[in-house]
Amino acid sequence: MYIADAHCDALWKMTQQSVPFTSSRVTVNKNSLKNGNVKTQVFALYVPPHWPIKKQRHELKRQMELFHSQIKPALPASTEAILALEGASLPGEDQSLQQKLLESGVSMASLTWNEENALAYGSSQPSHLGIKAAGKRFIAWQNSNNIIVDGAHLNEKGFWEALEHADRFLVSHTNIKSIYNHPRNLTDAQIQAVKEKDGFIGLTFYPLFINGSSEAALLEFTRQIDHACSIGAERIIGIGSDFDGIDHTVTSIQGPEDYPILVDHLLRHFSKDIVKGIAYGNFRRFLDKKNLNKFEAN
Ligand SMILES: [Zn+2]
Repeated sequence: MYIADAHCDALWKMTQQSVPFTSSRVTVNKNSLKNGNVKTQVFALYVPPHWPIKKQRHELKRQMELFHSQIKPALPASTEAILALEGASLPGEDQSLQQKLLESGVSMASLTWNEENALAYGSSQPSHLGIKAAGKRFIAWQNSNNIIVDGAHLNEKGFWEALEHADRFLVSHTNIKSIYNHPRNLTDAQIQAVKEKDGFIGLTFYPLFINGSSEAALLEFTRQIDHACSIGAERIIGIGSDFDGIDHTVTSIQGPEDYPILVDHLLRHFSKDIVKGIAYGNFRRFLDKKNLNKFEAN
């Protein structure tokens, strides 16, 4: 069964550990993607927002370069590598950097990581603070360039405002708040709103979001899907692994090479049709949706 993953931090791991995409020290690497039958993989550009600006710019450019020089050539033509931006404080009001992101093919971007920046407030910030004027300008820039708005890492008010202003919206890596109350997780009302927006939600394998500890069983991941199904969200959820950005993962799913184990497990709990959607089809369908043509809509 094909797999699509809406978020990983392999680029960050590659630069921090100075390892190539072929190295098994990167969880999402050339071989693990092949062994896991991954057809669509999102690679996030991430730079720590507290770094000096010059260092951030250097790191961002290095990751863009690695995506094109190492990752894309290493993957078979049938495997799609998608570039995303995690946290937009750096290019927020920098038009030349925005242009570089466009030229690099960035297709998705989130406004913040967990912090407050010039655009918005991340999930570590008070929930009542909304997106700043610069953040709304950035979303408008995303809309006009067909760059999907990623609500991952936003605080709650930021989420609702991003959802309202975005043409296309997903939450690339999160989990379910009614199962475990973590600021990075989504409430049922938020999940319903993403569904109404025709969006997508990627579920992580991060135990901290699943149960608050450093260990989670595969069955606990399945409970997330069970819950999503119970509120009618089975057609908008999928995988947002967060591999290479997390220090622990669900037991028995150590990396993409273990996706066959995940699929076998899910098939014991859900219909083949639902599993195919969660593994691949739901994200694929979301990506394939054409941008709403504003002239047609009027
Ligand atoms: Zn993240």
